[in-house]
Order: sequence, then C-alpha cells, then structure tokens
Amino acid sequence: MNRTNKRDYYEVLGVSRDATEDEIKLAYRRLAKKLHPDVNKTDPNAKEKFIELQEAYEVLSDPQKRRNYDQFGFNGVDIDMSDFFSGGIPGIDELFKSIFGGGFGGFGDFFGGFGSRTRAHAARREVGQDIEDELEISFEEAMFGVKKDVEIRRYVPCDTCEGTGAKDKTSIRQCSECHGTGRFRRMSQTGFGTIIRETECPYCNGTGRVIREKCEACKGTKVVPETKKIHVNIPPGVENGVHLKVQGAGHVPSVNAIPGDLYLKINIIPNKNFERHGNDLYTRVEVDFVDAILGSTIQVPTLDYKEQKIIFKELKIPAGTQHGTEFRIKNHGASYLRGKGKGDQYVIIHVKIPEKISKKQKELLIKYKELENQT
Ligand SMILES: [Zn+2]
Ligand SMILES: [Zn+2]
Repeated sequence: MNRTNKRDYYEVLGVSRDATEDEIKLAYRRLAKKLHPDVNKTDPNAKEKFIELQEAYEVLSDPQKRRNYDQFGFNGVDIDMSDFFSGGIPGIDELFKSIFGGGFGGFGDFFGGFGSRTRAHAARREVGQDIEDELEISFEEAMFGVKKDVEIRRYVPCDTCEGTGAKDKTSIRQCSECHGTGRFRRMSQTGFGTIIRETECPYCNGTGRVIREKCEACKGTKVVPETKKIHVNIPPGVENGVHLKVQGAGHVPSVNAIPGDLYLKINIIPNKNFERHGNDLYTRVEVDFVDAILGSTIQVPTLDYKEQKIIFKELKIPAGTQHGTEFRIKNHGASYLRGKGKGDQYVIIHVKIPEKISKKQKELLIKYKELENQT
C-alpha cells in the first residue's frame, strides 16, 4: 500500500487517539470479524482492507510503535505488511488464537501475538561465526611490518534467493503448526488455574515460516561459500603466535547479521641470527680466540629500519674480550606494538677455540705458554 494514501491507524480501527489497550483490542476483534475475507466475501478489496486493519492493530497494540506513530506518523513506524500473509490469511479462529491466545476467551491471556514476534526479531541480530586462520611470515616481515593479502573462505547470504533459502517468494509459506507466530503454547491445568508456557515453534525454529521448495543455489541453507581476499596490515614488532583480529571478515549468516571476525594466528619463521626475548634481540657472534685477546672489528647482523632489511654492521671489540661478553646496540631490537620506541640488540661474544691447529701453531703456543710462566 502506498504510504501517501494510507489511512490513519486510529481511523482504521475507529478508536480515539487516547483509546486504552483494551479498547484497541476490542475494536480490532470486532472489525476483524467483519472484514475477514472469509466473511467479507462480496468485497473485492477484502484482503487489502483486512491487511490495513492488521497493520493498524500491529502498530497501535505495541506501546513503543504506538508512541512512535503518535509522534512521527507513518515515518515513525517501520512496518512492511507486503509478505505478512504470504501463505494466505489464516482463518479467523486460527488468527484469533494466534493473537489472543488459546481459545478460552477474554483478554487476560493476551501475549501480544504478531507484535511481540516482530519485536523479538528486531531485538536479537544474528552474529556470524569467527574464522580462525594462520599466516606464516618471515622474521624481517615481522620486524619491519608488512601488508599481506590473505584468502579466506567464508559463508555469505545466497544471492539467488536473497538469503531466504526459498526457490521463490511463493515457496515461503506460513508455518501451519504455529500459524506464523513462531511461538508454541503449552497449557496445563493446575489448582491455581491455567498456566501457559510459550516456547519457540520447533517446526519453523521460531521464524513463523516454512519453505516448500528450496533454493537450488544454496540448497535451502540460505548461505553460499565465498572466497575473499582480505588485505591485512601486520604491524612492525608483531610477536610469534599472536592472533590478529580483522573485524567483520568472518562468516555472514544472513543479510541483517553482524559479520563474524577473522582471527589470524601469526607464525614467524625463525632467523638463526636473532633470538627474541620481549622486545630485545640477541645475536651470538663467534670470535677467534686470538682476536678476542688482541681486539678486533667484527661483522654483526643487525636491523636497518631505514632500508627495511638486515645489514652487517661493524662492531669494535676491545683487546681482552671475554667469552660471553655482551655488547648492546641501542634501539635495534623489535618495535613496541603499543607506544613508540624499540628494544635493544645484544651481541654475545662466543670465543671460538680451534679444534685442530698446525704443528707450527702448536710450537708458537708452547712458546707463548713459556713466556707466560716467566712473567
Ligand atoms: Zn512454526
Ligand atoms: Zn539460495
């Protein structure tokens, strides 16, 4: 129905603007009996008139919707009756049962019927499942940061059926078990009277609808697999084994759902020249024992943050450097993920003792020993 030529809801129900809830229920019940297409057989517009009544009742019987309507008119209420009775308008007894409750009259057992169904649906938005995946990067990529394209497989709503799972609109029918309410009522008699319990309808899983013919593209599952490239920005200094979160890159179970997230576990390929402890890096460098005694200049692998690569840097070690001595190269460690700055690099001297020496070298060492003993 076109929004501009809609009749005022109070006018449709024939009640005043300050009508009580009970007056609205009574008016609806009276008019529904009169306008239901089963009764109103001569009127060619019976169905439209009945849907108009249903819509007016939907809004005015719901306190929140009624307030919005009072304040903003038709713009204040978001209601679409176009497929409300897609499976046909239920018989009047069936309808009253689903709206007013289980056939023992009066309004004391009023649960809100259709109104509460639509509210419940709006209140809980489905949330998609998360995806967990792993990504292998090199040590350099971890230190300098890197942008990577990651291919993920996820589920998204089926395009063919617009996420309904049905072959076409006519294959979506109102659930006959719950008459489209999505609710199941169980009544039991106790000493205190009748107790009614409501549960989700097990036949339609609370949707109020059943599908006669399934969509061929998704086999009625409402979703199809999708392969998607995700651009991931890995920050410099990332640690091995952390899970990077990419928000919204997870599964999308339905059109209105909040997508899940992607958790990407980072596996860093170790580099034999660097061992990481916190944000500091440790590098072991072998030094010939003579160089350690006499002092020398050694080559140390280190991170060049400007050139974004590993270079060899000269490091002077003084005469008499002991095995296990640590030299610190400031700010050449891993970047802090939070806040500025970097850790340090520690160069650990490993004095190398030759396993085999020549005859000549041996003679010289013996001489050296004799000299040592004389001093
Ligand atoms: Zn059902
Ligand atoms: Zn489909």
